[in-house]
Order: sequence, then structure tokens, then C-alpha cells
Amino acid sequence: MKLEATVDGLMDGLRADLERLAAIPSISFPGFPAGPVEEAHDLLAGLLRDAGVPHVERLDLPDTAPVIYGEILPPTPDAPTVLLYGHYDVQPPGDEALWQSPPFEPTPVEGGLRARGIADDKSNVIAHLGMLRAYGGRPPVGIKIVIEGQEEYGSAFDDYPPSDPERFACDAMVIADLGNLRPGTPTLTTGLRGACEVVVEVRTLDEPRHSGEFGGAAPDALLVLLKALGTLHDVHGDVAVEGLRREEWDGTTYTEEEFRDLAGVREGVPLIGSGSLGERLWSGPAITVIGLDAPSVEHAASAVVPYARAKLNLRFHPRQDPQEARGRLVDHLRSLRPFGVPLTVTPGDTGPGYEAATGGPAYRAALAALKEGWGEDASYVATGGSIPLVNGLAKAAPGAEVLLFGAQDSMCNLHAPNERVLFSELRNTVVAMCAFVREFAADHRPGGGA
Ligand SMILES: [Zn+2]
Repeated sequence: MKLEATVDGLMDGLRADLERLAAIPSISFPGFPAGPVEEAHDLLAGLLRDAGVPHVERLDLPDTAPVIYGEILPPTPDAPTVLLYGHYDVQPPGDEALWQSPPFEPTPVEGGLRARGIADDKSNVIAHLGMLRAYGGRPPVGIKIVIEGQEEYGSAFDDYPPSDPERFACDAMVIADLGNLRPGTPTLTTGLRGACEVVVEVRTLDEPRHSGEFGGAAPDALLVLLKALGTLHDVHGDVAVEGLRREEWDGTTYTEEEFRDLAGVREGVPLIGSGSLGERLWSGPAITVIGLDAPSVEHAASAVVPYARAKLNLRFHPRQDPQEARGRLVDHLRSLRPFGVPLTVTPGDTGPGYEAATGGPAYRAALAALKEGWGEDASYVATGGSIPLVNGLAKAAPGAEVLLFGAQDSMCNLHAPNERVLFSELRNTVVAMCAFVREFAADHRPGGGA
């Protein structure tokens, strides 16, 4: 109860700081001014110093925005060190006409605030700050805090930690760049699918040819491509490419109704694939056609199409090797000869997924802490999105347990118009962070632990 009262007493201040931070359009995409990125960096570095972090440093690395690095030494030699991660940059707001209030004017909504980046990831950065304030800058563990400034656009920082492992050495890390399956349901994300892209193209004729004179014998490149794309899934909509790993999902997942609502699936349109949603979304593969080059309907001539191209996005099981997964899709496409026509297949980037080991002391501490925060047992989910830095940090600190939780929720419109965060989620996250470091420290004390 004492912890909860302490956090409740901090909430007004945290809300005010969140509003200040969310009012800064810290967008690190090309074409956006660097001033606000610097401003958000400086504001946060100052807030961390004021919260009692004795050492706050600015890391200027190539090809990325400045990274905030802060450190509090462990209070005793046997206390563990926890690394806290978040990012202070945000997605561009997109079409401002779709926003119900200006994206960089934090605006009250029921139970929370609306603004670009207020959930992703400024809420979690503020949650870290809340934990530090609750302990007066002297938490029962050593702290390393890493707040980067170019997560949304992608940054060279992803590969940096293994080149400076001493700096990132820790016993556990809290990657706070996500949150709960739904508001009020404490959630640990234990898996991230891997991703890759593949381009497939077909050229059949030198130029378009009159469809009346040539159609029927001249091979239509678009038709060839569509036939190839049609082999990627079976009649149920399950991925039909062999060798892509698919396993049962044993954590929790959305209800079908929640998922339909989140995805905005139109009435009368069924979902695709079979098996549990967890399996379809997290522990099985997905192939999406994300781009297609072909004549537009508006400018369509009556001609056989000589050339067509598609870009595919593959998401694969967290533990499948990225080269192998990409190879399976490439081999599948190369083996096809729709109407006898060969395809040109160009493999693109591929990146690994991530699966957390959940059996250690940090997970025990986190399960207890999330229960304390939300008053309910935590559940495990995965996410289709990826956080490339997780792999970089895990390489730098291979012995550390990796925890993914935070103040966002699936309904908070990340990367979409009208992003919002709920105060209840923020408050419960701060309680959980505080309880986590307390429990984790207790586990490391001689004779301590659950
Ligand atoms: Zn984020």
C-alpha cells in the first residue's frame, strides 16, 4: 500500500512532465527539423538529473540522434543492475486532418491524454522517471538508463551495444517500448517475429501488345505474377510455403471480436488462416503482398501486360533463422513456373525475431510486480512488430534477462491518428517498475528471493 500511495502522489508531476514532453514534435525522420529532437533530449536529460541520476551522458553516435545514457551504481556489491530502455522520438503525425486535436497539443481524453508519441514511447520514458522519483533516485538496484532518439526511423544505434558491452552490462533489462494486450491486462511480451522482404518480378514481352490481336497466346506478365502469388496461401488462408516454422501459441491472445475491431475488419469479411489467433499472429508465419507494380485501372490500355512486380513481406517464427526463413520463400518462388514462365526473385533485408527466456529470477520478479501493478496475474503475449535493438542489447549482455512491458496498450493507436495513453496504465506501470526492482533486488540478497 505504501508504494501505491507514493506513486499516486507522484502522478500529477508525471502527468505534467509527460505533457511537456509530448508537446515537442521530436520526429527523427529525414525532412523534419532537428531542433525539437534536441529539445526533447535536453528536457529528458534534465528530468533524469533532477530525479537523482548522478551520471547522465549524451552519446553522439554516427547516423542517429543523441542517445541519453544515465547510470546509478548499485547500492551494495551484491545488488543487481537493471537496464531501462525507451525512446524519445516519435512517428510523424501523418494526415493532421484525421486527428481530433492537434497532434502536438496534449489533449485530455477519457482517462488519459491524446498526442503523437504520448504512448509510444513517451509514456514509458515517464514511467522510468516515475520509478526513479519513487525511490528518491536511490533504487535498490544499480540502474543503467538508455533513451534513444531515432527508434522510429531506424538507426545505427541498433548495432552499437555489442561494440561497447561494458556500458550495457546488466542482470536484467526492461525494454519499455510496448504495453498491454488490453487496458487492465498486465502483459509481458515474450516473443517478436522475424521479418524479411522479397521482390518477385516477371517480364514476358518486350512491350505491351494489343489484347485483341495478341491476347490468348501472348503471356500476360500480370497474370503470371498473380498465379505465383496465389500459391503462397492455401484455401483457408494459411501460409502454404514449406519449411516456415509454425507452433501452437501457449500464451494469451485477443478474442476474435477484439482483433476484428482493432484491425478494422469489415462486417461479412472473415479472418484468414486457421488455428488460434496467437498461432496465426505470433508463432506462425505470415506473408503479405505489400506492393504491386502493374498498370493502374484508371490508365489501363487494352493490352497484354509485359511486366509486373510485387513486394512481399514475410514474418516468421521468433526462433527461425532469418536466412533460412527467407530462403524458404525464395526457393518456393523460384521453383514456380506459372504457364511455364520463370520468375525473377530478389531477396531483400531479413532480421531475426526474438524469444525471451522466461524462467529466471527477473521473470519471477516481473510476474509478482505486474500483479502488484494491476491486481491481476500477468499473461504472456508476442507481437508481430519487431524491436531490432533488443537483439543488439541481448548480444551485448548475453546473460541478462530481457523483459518487455510498459504503459502502452493495443488500443492506443500507435503510429496512427489520435494516439492516446491512459493514466491508469501509466500509474500501474510505475507501480510495477518499482515493485520489479524491489523484488529483483530481494532475490539477489543472500538468503533472499521467492
Ligand atoms: Zn516505440
